[in-house]
Amino acid sequence: KILVVGSSNTDMVIKADKLPAPGETVLGGTFFMNPGGKGANQAVAAARLGGNVTFVAKVGNDIFGQQALAQFQQEGININYITVDAEQPSGVALINVNAKGENCIAVAPGANGQLMPTDLAAALDSVAADTIVLLQLEIPLTTVEYVIRKSYEKNVRVILNPAPAQILPPALFPLLYLITPNETEAELLTGIRVTDPATAQKAANKLQSLGVANIIITLGAKGAWLHTSSWLGLIPAPQVTATDTTAAGDCFNGALAVALAENQYLAEAVAFACKAAAVSVTRLGAQASLPKRAEV
Ligand code: ADP
Repeated sequence: KILVVGSSNTDMVIKADKLPAPGETVLGGTFFMNPGGKGANQAVAAARLGGNVTFVAKVGNDIFGQQALAQFQQEGININYITVDAEQPSGVALINVNAKGENCIAVAPGANGQLMPTDLAAALDSVAADTIVLLQLEIPLTTVEYVIRKSYEKNVRVILNPAPAQILPPALFPLLYLITPNETEAELLTGIRVTDPATAQKAANKLQSLGVANIIITLGAKGAWLHTSSWLGLIPAPQVTATDTTAAGDCFNGALAVALAENQYLAEAVAFACKAAAVSVTRLGAQASLPKRAEV
């Protein structure tokens, strides 16, 4: 089983020739509305790949929240522990994209910012030792800390995807089974600039010395650096033609959780995650790009 605790957003995207400057109105372009949020993306990724997924999140009492819930249900995700906030709206991201594919994004976390430890107690009580807990950083840090501590007490393995990049309390590191930063996040956590396997090894060493049991640093098209107490090395990504790398990291983390819940070895699990993420980058969109098991 997999328990994902995290954010759910609705992405509203306008793709036009240029990005609007302050005070400017840009007319023309096309509008898309997509489900998003790192928590939701990772939950959907894991469910499509065959994971038994429970998603814990908070949405607003509005049409976006209702749509998100319906979508999760369609994916076969257990939504029993998703709560509805009475006051805050659902999380929304407003995204402008220009012809070159550059973007400008404003996110209002809304209900995601109200996901509190009290909202999680029941879900965590239900967790058994063979569950994999998967977390990101788009919900309050106090809630992330609570989940990590509770899971550690119960001997449950936690994967922390430390995204978006944020400084973390050092006391959390020894409680993690696995941390999965990308290059930018690894640099923020370690102070080491990560651009290739050699620098990833240095950053992973640092994270290991801070107490993290296992470290995976994702390196985009290069693949992922895996660092455990008994094995370290690069697991290369399959070579593909990338069209849109949005949610590559989310796909990677969801897939990783699925493989670990199936008791695959870490190196096997990383190879599986690299394959799943490689499929996702060949397709447009976030959740729309996430593959089913047979496609991997
Ligand atoms: P994020 O999306 O969080 O920035 P990365 O860019 O490191 O993270 O991508 C996560 C994973 O997705 C990589 O470890 C790799 O397995 C896969 N991936 C990303 N970009 C590509 C690509 N161009 N070709 C193949 N795999 C990719």
